[in-house]
Amino acid sequence: MRFCPPRNAVGFCVVVRAAVLAGMALGAWRQAVAQTPQQRLTEIIRDTQKQGNRAGRFTLVWWIVPEFWRTALAANGAIPADKIEEMVASIRDINVFAVVDAKMAGFAPEFTSSQELQKDFNVTDSGNELVPLIPEQKQSIATKNMLATMRPMMANMLGEFGKNMLFVVTEGKNKNGSRRIDPTKPGSLVVRLNNEEFHWRLPLGSLLPQKVCPKCNEAFPGNYVFCPFDATPLKERPGVTQ
Ligand SMILES: [Zn+2]
Repeated sequence: MRFCPPRNAVGFCVVVRAAVLAGMALGAWRQAVAQTPQQRLTEIIRDTQKQGNRAGRFTLVWWIVPEFWRTALAANGAIPADKIEEMVASIRDINVFAVVDAKMAGFAPEFTSSQELQKDFNVTDSGNELVPLIPEQKQSIATKNMLATMRPMMANMLGEFGKNMLFVVTEGKNKNGSRRIDPTKPGSLVVRLNNEEFHWRLPLGSLLPQKVCPKCNEAFPGNYVFCPFDATPLKERPGVTQ
């Protein structure tokens, strides 16, 4: 099974490219009025991508949550809903991270090799437990298909940065079958790479139903509790789910 069938690949990739570029270009603050699938996708990308802060380097860690695929494929518009659910279900028991790191001195970025990146990469969950990585030879067919689709897509969209991206797969389920690192539930996730920490506080607002302020009518990401302008408790926006 392919995630990006040839007849759908172009439209899908355009949607993702626009969203990835928007996510990378904008800052942390956003006014989350996610009304179209494209806007929702941009919100998810902003919530799931973290950039490093080391001087003279560009580092990006992108936690590619299954919900990203659901929204990206829905935004494409050409794939039936049941097919989308089937695809998302096939990668629900893993976590995928895309990582790229480069030294930005001189005319061309000097990319860190996949081997080097993998050596220094680890993920810890809310309980501060290490989440085991799944080496390539142990990845499922569905995972391999998904990665085989992503690699050329990232190279197309992001040029050298996409070509030098490492995709790391970790376990995604607890022993009792529940989801390990659920981006829709309270918790945290920390990725460590080259002594730098990338921290996600969960849930991710872009994956929850939007909230609205009953006083000023402003919309906010679903993980907000109070309006930051007038301190009014927020309510779920009726009829808007993500
Ligand atoms: Zn307000």
